Amino acid sequence: MSQDIQALLWSYGYVGACVAAGESSLRLGLSRELARKIIHVSVGFWIFGTLWLFQNPALAVVPSLTAAVANWIIHRKRLLKSVETEPDNLGTVWFALAFSALVWLAWDKPVAAAGGVMAMTVGDALAALVGTRLGRHPYETLGGERKSLEGSLAMLAGTFVAVLATLTWLPGLAPDMPKVPLAALCAVVATCAEALGTRGRDNLFVPLAAGAVLYLVPPSHAAGLGLGAVIAVFIGVVSWLRGSLSPSGVLGAILIGTPVLGLAGAVGASALLAFFISSSALSKAFRARKAGVEEEYAKTGTRDLGQALANGGVAALAAVLLAVTGDERYALAMLGALVAANADTWATELGVLSRSPPRLVTTLRQVPAGTSGAVSGAGLMASTAGAAFVAVVAALAGARWTLLPWLVLAGVVGSLFDSFLGATVQDVRWCDACGRETERRVHRCGRAARPLRGFSWLGNDTVNVLATAAGALLAFWA
Ligand SMILES: [Zn+2]
Repeated sequence: MSQDIQALLWSYGYVGACVAAGESSLRLGLSRELARKIIHVSVGFWIFGTLWLFQNPALAVVPSLTAAVANWIIHRKRLLKSVETEPDNLGTVWFALAFSALVWLAWDKPVAAAGGVMAMTVGDALAALVGTRLGRHPYETLGGERKSLEGSLAMLAGTFVAVLATLTWLPGLAPDMPKVPLAALCAVVATCAEALGTRGRDNLFVPLAAGAVLYLVPPSHAAGLGLGAVIAVFIGVVSWLRGSLSPSGVLGAILIGTPVLGLAGAVGASALLAFFISSSALSKAFRARKAGVEEEYAKTGTRDLGQALANGGVAALAAVLLAVTGDERYALAMLGALVAANADTWATELGVLSRSPPRLVTTLRQVPAGTSGAVSGAGLMASTAGAAFVAVVAALAGARWTLLPWLVLAGVVGSLFDSFLGATVQDVRWCDACGRETERRVHRCGRAARPLRGFSWLGNDTVNVLATAAGALLAFWA
């Protein structure tokens, strides 16, 4: 008990000294931003003092909870004093709460608490410093903030180094835990949490997400997930710079790529890459030729988070279920989802080039090219080829060749199911000005398109999820 009292005194003394150091550096002429960073970083390092000095977790969280309350009062007072001052976010309050939560929840695994706080302390500070000075490739976050690729890469590198150092020097990690892949996975997850850019709440998400990785990932999957995450980041960023993915699409590539590349072995990795590379290449190759027709579809050449999750989410879920249950049928479900996604993408990209007008899948009457739910001979051939392409690549990587016909069937049925939903329940609209059908809410002419058929909540992304789920189910029972 007396040691905990001493630890409390040390905590308040240390934090007081950090604030004093920040204040005096402000007087010495440093910018407010830099002074705040000095306080933020030096206080963050107190996680090591906290874990080392305290014996009772209930008392160990007292200083950071005090800081949360104090920061909240400071924040409120500033808001009351003047409406003119920038309505500062609650970042410092969230950070103190995350610090407390990590100390409390990971008391039995201190390395997770320390790694989580270090991700925030070192990584986030680097992201802000580098981003504001060297940012050349800006992007808008889902939370509506402006960040830059350079800032996010600095966060990635800084978090990796800080977490690796923590894992190396702090005891408590399982001996068979590979440190470098685990630090890499932690860095990718923390960087994604920061890149959401949600007005200060990333100060809560970043440390908790990084801590959760260190606390939860089992030794058997750490190496695969770490490598998968790094490859997914690389592919995602390159695709963004080449125009195949939007910035939020990079997040989607990481969310899908990490589990599929990291948990489903060579078969999962090659099937995902076959899908991603072939569909990106097709969109790019035919973009100019089919301009006009393609614009009636909600999906365009540059894919965003929703489209990435709609096409790959079912496969990613199956990869996670495969790892958790060890049931090999989930590997088939993952392949079924990927062949269906590829069959549908190839059919969409190549089917619109068909010379003869397509027919509606339900009534078989002729409709203009670009109509939702339209199928054509060329489209069917393209979807069969798309499914076969992924299935053959998976077989070359080690999947059973006897699965091939089942996977092709699952892909084509999934793609036809997509067309069927497009012709029946999908939200399809009509532009009065142009007299054309469209999947877009605002037509390319700029006018709002009125509902024509289907449910307004059942957009293209939902249809893709259902179509890949149909492919996954068929393959699961194969
Ligand atoms: Zn129009």
